[in-house]
Amino acid sequence: MRVTDNLTTIQQMIEASCQRSGRTVEEITLIAVTKYVTIERTKEVLQAGITNIAENRDTGLSEKQVALDDPAISWHFIGQLQTKKVKKVINQVDYFHALDRLSLAEEINKRADKVISCFVQVNVSGEESKAGLPPDELEMFIQQLTAYPKIKVVGLMTMAPFTDDESILRQVFRRLRELRDQIQAKGYKHAPCQGLSMGMSNDFHIAIEEGATHIRIGSSLVGTDKLR
Ligand SMILES: *Cc1c(COP(=O)(O)O)cnc(C)c1O
Repeated sequence: MRVTDNLTTIQQMIEASCQRSGRTVEEITLIAVTKYVTIERTKEVLQAGITNIAENRDTGLSEKQVALDDPAISWHFIGQLQTKKVKKVINQVDYFHALDRLSLAEEINKRADKVISCFVQVNVSGEESKAGLPPDELEMFIQQLTAYPKIKVVGLMTMAPFTDDESILRQVFRRLRELRDQIQAKGYKHAPCQGLSMGMSNDFHIAIEEGATHIRIGSSLVGTDKLR
């Protein structure tokens, strides 16, 4: 499938979800996750008019950035970032979606040349395999981030559990929104925390209904075929 055809379907779903929840499509940023695919396939994404691109590895990021040197692109890093890789990645991205520990915040603060817009990753579902902070540690963590002036918390991020039980997905997304609202209500200068990075190929329609502002879509947009 061509990216433009996939995009048409996705945009229709975004519109329908917005309609169901009284939101507007302007509130939603579609981030194309290109970690599965080649530079050529990523070019199709740009040609389709998408300018938010996400990678989850330092190698994938630098490879795409060298090939697609376009100032219009906003680059997102969505993967677990080892502390030793921070130096290589952090000044190359516009948004970092996986802040989940103080040691990482400290290293980002040390290596960043500018203030970095970060989403704090929360493990709402509590699955052991998932990265992110437990919800009950979030507020303390956000307070501790005041020690790192290069970190700006623009929102929260989560990965939903791997299930097609819609009620479970909805609960997870709703919980992240409640946590976001709580942090936002504190009015922290370093943590305006307006964003909600949640929803992937299989669940973005639910995430939008529950308040997502940034959806991260890979397979249903670009496919998963490395050879493309
Ligand atoms: C791979 C990935 C996505 C995209 O997943 P799809 O199901 O292919 O849309 C989104 N977010 C994160 C953190 C990912 O690692």
